[in-house]
Amino acid sequence: MSLALSTFASAKEASVALNEGGAHYLGGGTLVVRAVNEGDIAITGYVRTTDPALTKIDVSGQRARIGASATMASIARCLELETIWRAAKAVGGPAIRNMATVGGNLFAPAPYGDFTVALLALGATVHCADADLSIDDFLADRDNSSGRGIVTAVSFDIPAADSFRFLKVSRVKPKGVSVLSIATIIDTDAQGVVANARIGLGCMADRPIRARAAEAALKGQPLTKDGIAQAVAVIGEGTDPITDPIASGWYRGEVLPVHFSRLLLS
Ligand SMILES: Cc1cc2nc3c(=O)[nH]c(=O)nc-3n(C[C@H](O)[C@H](O)[C@H](O)COP(=O)(O)OP(=O)(O)OC[C@H]3O[C@@H](n4cnc5c(N)ncnc54)[C@H](O)[C@@H]3O)c2cc1C
Repeated sequence: MSLALSTFASAKEASVALNEGGAHYLGGGTLVVRAVNEGDIAITGYVRTTDPALTKIDVSGQRARIGASATMASIARCLELETIWRAAKAVGGPAIRNMATVGGNLFAPAPYGDFTVALLALGATVHCADADLSIDDFLADRDNSSGRGIVTAVSFDIPAADSFRFLKVSRVKPKGVSVLSIATIIDTDAQGVVANARIGLGCMADRPIRARAAEAALKGQPLTKDGIAQAVAVIGEGTDPITDPIASGWYRGEVLPVHFSRLLLS
């Protein structure tokens, strides 16, 4: 089977070509090329763009904008993004990180999408060729690309080192696929009481999801064993953990509170 590879100078042109159907956008190719190699005949070609803006990482003050074609390796080399390196370095091994893009990670089905779990906790904005969306709205509707065009970048406020936490649980260290991943942004006041919390979970549904019940339960509480008890009790609310060769959904659901509690108290 032959596959057409069409290259465009701009994201807009690539979006138009994708709307014609059949072809898939080619990011780093770690998933889409594998799908073709495994015999996915629904993919009839690749569309890509050489627009240099898509590989750029811009940091202005506390705001970061990462082009959709920036790789996990390039994020892990960017000194201004040090507080979120842990999430980029959680994606595969070095060879995968050299290819895996931010844009592709947004579309990766569970058990993948570790960096997107972090973006969800960060409350990122997803910039597309024809629209800007909150990451919550983007993920809720990510299978429907009509009207938004390809993803061109993500942007977010760079968190303070002590407000961002990320944990990936895997069976094979250091580069195994996730049993689950958790990212949190927790802002505390001068008394150490939680003022705001955003929590992203990976492998707890077909895509990264927020733990809204736990976010609400943390508000007004100190990050102590007693203070987090209610959040730990409800962390699994609204989840539907996946079952795959790495772990059953039951197991993922059982160990989530344990790892969540450890992350909060770490
Ligand atoms: C051996 C191996 C290990 C892996 N380990 C991990 C891991 O530990 N954690 C993890 O999160 N992932 C992992 N992955 C999955 C994958 O490598 C990453 O999720 C990666 O970030 C996907 O990015 P990509 O650019 O390679 O995606 P691609 O394969 O290029 O694309 C994936 C999908 O996203 C679409 N897409 C890509 N970019 C855009 C865009 N800009 N706009 C619109 N659509 C787009 C493509 O059309 C395709 O449908 C692993 C993969 C492999 C093969």
